[in-house]
Amino acid sequence: MILDVVSIFPEYLAPLDLSLIGKARRDGLLDLRVHDLRDFAHDRHRSVDDTPYGGGAGMVMKPQPWAEALDHVVASTADGGRPRVVIPGPGGMPFSQALARELAAEPWLTFACGRYEGIDERVYEYAADDLGLEVSVISLGDYVLNGGEVAVLAMVEAVARLLPGVIGNAESLVEESHEDGLLEYPVYTKPASWESAPGVAREVPSVLLSGDHGAIAAWRHQQRLERTAARRPDLLHPSQAVGGAGLEGLD
Ligand code: SAM
Repeated sequence: MILDVVSIFPEYLAPLDLSLIGKARRDGLLDLRVHDLRDFAHDRHRSVDDTPYGGGAGMVMKPQPWAEALDHVVASTADGGRPRVVIPGPGGMPFSQALARELAAEPWLTFACGRYEGIDERVYEYAADDLGLEVSVISLGDYVLNGGEVAVLAMVEAVARLLPGVIGNAESLVEESHEDGLLEYPVYTKPASWESAPGVAREVPSVLLSGDHGAIAAWRHQQRLERTAARRPDLLHPSQAVGGAGLEGLD
């Protein structure tokens, strides 16, 4: 997969050299290219922002550097392929595991990191109408960040870990939270009995030590339902029973 990230803070993307994503880059599974938007600004100060028409606080990112940056990215392949452009923004569609899966199926993604009050609206039109690109505005959540870089770090990690070969054990992806609408069950490791304070032993649930795979699967499913009902009831369908009772029976 090819990933381009355009930002005025390219160094913000340095963590993408670490851990599994860094390894995926070194293994050639991810071709991740970070571009400095200021390379496409040609005035003496390499400025990328200006005051908003209509007044108001803050600055707006100018269209010309963005258009040149997108032209540069699009021209970077000889095979005529086109990237899908993702513009992070608090007014976009909510990012989710389903959307991460959708993006993971794309061969080429280009992320455009806004700053200040955002990017001049005509850049969205230019990308879609003049360059013929699919443009998706995607929000990390209902809050406001200073820039798109943090959102891109989260999105790239969520997308890249779904690519074949990035996570060693692909099975671990299947049972995770949000894959089938439920949160994951609680997990434990050794020791089976852990003394968290003198005289206080915290035990791993005995069913997990039983070796009874059917009982373990049933326990885990019940835990997933209960955890989802407790923490994210909005994810549950009313027909999903918890502890034998319908959701309407919950406090
Ligand atoms: N004035 C904009 C508004 O109210 O919608 C917010 C601009 S914000 C200060 C600057 C940049 O941060 C945005 O252009 C976007 O790239 C990024 N950003 C802020 N919050 C975000 C969120 N929840 N999800 C994704 N990106 C976000």
